[in-house]
Amino acid sequence: MKKAYLLAALFVALSCAPKTSVLSPDGRTRVLFSIQEGVPFWAVEVDGRKVVDPSPVGLAAFGASLEEGYTLVGSKLSRHDETWSQPWGENKQIRDRHNALTLKLKNASGVAMSLEFRAFDDGITFRSSYDAPGDSLLVSDELTEFRFSEDALSWSIPGDFNSYEHLYRKMPLSALRDANTPLTIRREDGLHLSVHEAALMDFPEMVLRKKEGTAFKADLAPRHYGDSVKAIVPSSFRTPWRTLQISPDAVGLVNSSVILNLNEPCALEDVSWIKPMKYIGVWWAMHLGIASWGGDRWHGATTQEAIRYIDFAAQNNIQGVLFEGWNDAWKGSDALPDFDFTSPAPDFDVEAVVEYAREKGVCFITHNETGGNVARFEQQLERSLDWAEGLGIHALKTGYAGGGLRGGVPRHSQQGVQHFQRVAQAAAAHKVMIDGHEVIKPTGIRRTWPNFMTRECVRGMEYNGWSTGNPPSHHEILPYTRALGGPVDYTPGVFDVQYRNIQGLEQVRSWGRPGTECRVNTTLCKQIANWVVLYSPLQMACDLISNYEGHPAFQFFRDFDPDCDESRALSGEVGEYIAVVRRAADKYFYGATTDDSARDIVQSLDFLRRGTVYEAVIYADAPDASWQDNPYAYQIIHCTVTCEDTLPVHLAPGGGQAIVFSPQ
Ligand code: CA
Repeated sequence: MKKAYLLAALFVALSCAPKTSVLSPDGRTRVLFSIQEGVPFWAVEVDGRKVVDPSPVGLAAFGASLEEGYTLVGSKLSRHDETWSQPWGENKQIRDRHNALTLKLKNASGVAMSLEFRAFDDGITFRSSYDAPGDSLLVSDELTEFRFSEDALSWSIPGDFNSYEHLYRKMPLSALRDANTPLTIRREDGLHLSVHEAALMDFPEMVLRKKEGTAFKADLAPRHYGDSVKAIVPSSFRTPWRTLQISPDAVGLVNSSVILNLNEPCALEDVSWIKPMKYIGVWWAMHLGIASWGGDRWHGATTQEAIRYIDFAAQNNIQGVLFEGWNDAWKGSDALPDFDFTSPAPDFDVEAVVEYAREKGVCFITHNETGGNVARFEQQLERSLDWAEGLGIHALKTGYAGGGLRGGVPRHSQQGVQHFQRVAQAAAAHKVMIDGHEVIKPTGIRRTWPNFMTRECVRGMEYNGWSTGNPPSHHEILPYTRALGGPVDYTPGVFDVQYRNIQGLEQVRSWGRPGTECRVNTTLCKQIANWVVLYSPLQMACDLISNYEGHPAFQFFRDFDPDCDESRALSGEVGEYIAVVRRAADKYFYGATTDDSARDIVQSLDFLRRGTVYEAVIYADAPDASWQDNPYAYQIIHCTVTCEDTLPVHLAPGGGQAIVFSPQ
């Protein structure tokens, strides 16, 4: 009797003990919470293996005690399983299945902290909410750490608060000093990890800096260079999510929807005007140095060029044309004056061009280059969006060229993040889609503001125009790093990869280094495959249209549908290769690319619909193709296949392959 009573008491005590860990739905990943000397800690295990050792989580603020002295006052476990849909995306249907652990903490200074962990099958995440005395807080530091349990290989760009336009470094965590996110990691046991953040709103960006060994500390972009204030927030606020994607293989990171699942649902009632599209533009001629943004006799965006590009778009199943440099006051290619985004250049009849585009069923994509002058852009934002909407313009490419935002403000600061939010929201009110260049990294806010279609935040194609260019492996690193955050406007599709067709043309600009050693470091077929691999709902064919006219391989882009319904990364290794398939309605688009090494994939077609016979049109590197010596050699092969078949996919060094599958 006494024994039974004791057992019952023990059971009650155990079931009332606060929950301090949470398992993923598949039971493989565990997040563990603890308090050590008043500071909250997190840790992660996968299949019982240590992945992240106990690491502090927290913030510091001037004049407030946010960082320590906490006791646990309550905890709660919950489950979530929901499938939601979005108007566009790699996948239009997304399942959000996770288990959550929410902890309530309090300290003696009257600060209440709530810490929420979520464990998904493909990653874990946490964020904290604070409720402190007073009206507002000056955040001085983020104390959160990532103490990786063992050394591992990593791929990242530097922790730069102004630019993501860097080449990736591959190095052991133990040798890494700092990194922006996504920071992708491969352990010796094959486990792949990627650190990023989700729902970055009203807060500065987080990068990681080495603490010691394989331990990194979060670092927030300051409000001004050298400023010790990182963020000004209300005294009741919450941080963005800190995320760790986890997968047994590299492609599992690509197929994860953790980042989108952590963002707020769509804030717009009517999304019918938001549509993926293909586009072309006069932009590449500027980077090749054979045309200018304006203000001289080499101006690229003239009325005459506009008509030529619109005609080409209309004839080739391309929905948009970007007119970079259409507006007045450009001074060649060297100076960025403070523009007005409603005044056209003297040789660009904007109203006539928009009207001509409308008649041809082509979307006019306007361009606002701010040069980082955010204050001036915001002053005219409403007026210029009004003007655009009045003319029926529904797409805008923004640019913030230069070192950072004006006034000593880092581009990735809290003010920068809030500016890019304001632009997306103002544009939505005028039914304008945004393609942001030199903006904040993607963290999934496209779920909330689906008119923020795509962004650059990458060392893109432009670098090939005037530098030694991007190395072949760049395109096999991006899907596993930068693109984990969201769509990338890399602008693939250069067919004249060695610039043979512009030899002898006059070079018009003084910057960069136009010359013979500039080229695109891939084969022709890799350019085609990148239209599939490097996902962007606004997907550009960036080359001069003269390089597409009459080219048999351009048929791929004519047939390509950027409005896909579902996507799957099939195979690959970080920095080595990737194979991806995307379904758009009843067609499938396949893309595979490789780094410097030739590769042969035996590709199962089990992704095709059972019972349907497909016509496959294959755009393949020729057997003797290579990016260095023979980049143009390709073949187009037609065959009939079903889901039972396999295809041999040959990729040349620096090469790629693209396939269109259409039901017969
Ligand atoms: Ca750029």
